[in-house]
Amino acid sequence: STPSENGSTGKRKVIAVVGGGLVGALNACYFAKRGFAVELFESREDIRQAKVARGKSINLALSHRGRQALKHVGMEEKIVSKGIPMHARMIHALNGTRSPIPYGKKGQYILSVDRANLNKELLTAAEEYPNTKLNFGHKLLDWSTELGAMTFLRLDGTKEQIKADLIVGCDGAFSAIRKQFLRQRRFNYSQTYIPHGYMELTMPPHNGDFAMEPNYLHIWPRNTFMMIALPNLDKTFTCTLFMPFEEFEKITTEEEVIGFFQTYFPDSIPLIGEDAVKRDYFRLPAQAMVSVKCSPYHMGDKCVMMGDAAHAVVPFYGQGMNAGFEDCLVFNEVMEQYNDDFSAVLPEYTRVRVPDDHAIADLAMYNYVEMRSHVNSKWFLFRKYVDNLLHFIMPSTIIPLYTMITFTRTRYHKAVNHWQWQNKVINRGLSVCGIASMVGVAYLVIRFGLQRPNLTLDQLWTLVQTLKWF
Ligand code: FAD
Repeated sequence: STPSENGSTGKRKVIAVVGGGLVGALNACYFAKRGFAVELFESREDIRQAKVARGKSINLALSHRGRQALKHVGMEEKIVSKGIPMHARMIHALNGTRSPIPYGKKGQYILSVDRANLNKELLTAAEEYPNTKLNFGHKLLDWSTELGAMTFLRLDGTKEQIKADLIVGCDGAFSAIRKQFLRQRRFNYSQTYIPHGYMELTMPPHNGDFAMEPNYLHIWPRNTFMMIALPNLDKTFTCTLFMPFEEFEKITTEEEVIGFFQTYFPDSIPLIGEDAVKRDYFRLPAQAMVSVKCSPYHMGDKCVMMGDAAHAVVPFYGQGMNAGFEDCLVFNEVMEQYNDDFSAVLPEYTRVRVPDDHAIADLAMYNYVEMRSHVNSKWFLFRKYVDNLLHFIMPSTIIPLYTMITFTRTRYHKAVNHWQWQNKVINRGLSVCGIASMVGVAYLVIRFGLQRPNLTLDQLWTLVQTLKWF
């Protein structure tokens, strides 16, 4: 019998993918391609037929890891062709000036893609395999760890019991699959809600075209909060305001909304439209963001979790979906290595993947601070400049962290280790330059300063500061 067949019966092994979101739909394609009988269960109705599909965010940034995972099932071109390249961040200062900061080298870009379209395309691709069945309106209530039997609640209120050889939990940050893991001994779990919430506003087209430069991820950094905007194919932008919940709650009237935007994002008001700002702000309450870390990702040879079910990350590195898509690719690589033997594949998958998913969860949390405040600081811009310059001179030794995460498949935890190493080296190098320039200044003072008593301490300090930057 082939690995995807059950040895005793000769029948195809059944894989139950729970959750038909981005990662579940892609995973269904992966397992179908390997020849398993795939049953996908999704609690919502089929979003391809539903009139309003409300997702988490309207659009997302797709980068290299996600693209590689799509490529394996022949979906890369289809998705990329409907994405909008973003070559740089566009920083909007309070006074309205805009300055671009490229993401990487020339030709490197991330893509703004429509979440609903991506999800629909992946479901359709999964359905095209004859060995896949999509079951919508099936909400997992519970499952048995011993038998691998799952209980689903259907839309008509009836319950259904289903058994599978392997359960793949892709049911998102509030996973029902994970509940069983929490009952197990030696299962590590942590969950953190950040004090910020997010809210989406739409910036309409202006005179039939994008209201701002389309090939950028626009950022309005304002220290404790920020707004970002990603372009859509219909020439709109989706603006996302990230702000502490307590600040959201302080704004209760339309006048207060406009006052707030006038103070912090004045250039955005004519672009979004004053009425739209007032309307959109009160349309939906701000949404929460959670970071979830756990291990192991598997239980015996019966169940494995991937995507947000295993690692919900805060959205500040644009990697949540990319990491979830890469999970599918890594799992597939391990399946290849162990000839589809679940009892060997599942522990190995946990072993290789946990350190990487934990690393990206930590990095996303770190970027949560960096994106809001550091992009405003001279030191941050200076370090970005130094890093890029060194990368240009020594492309395989000094690689900016963002480049490793976004434009390569370097394992997340290895990228973090390399970054810490190169930070040490660069900071030491800069200290040496700083000390050398101080010594130079001291020499100048002794040599000439003593003869010029009008060189004040302030002037001296300015001189030292100036030298530090070159
Ligand atoms: P989900 O997308 O949450 O899908 C889970 C699915 O499971 C859903 O369809 C749900 O209906 C179903 N389900 C839930 N419970 C059950 C049940 N009991 N039974 C059956 N089905 C169930 N990532 C990026 O890579 N780039 C970005 O730019 C980016 N931006 C983001 C912006 C915001 C504001 C947010 C919140 C997230 C962002 N992300 C981004 C992260 C990304 O959205 C997630 O990582 C991704 O959606 C995870 O996919 P998933 O399939 O694991 O989970």
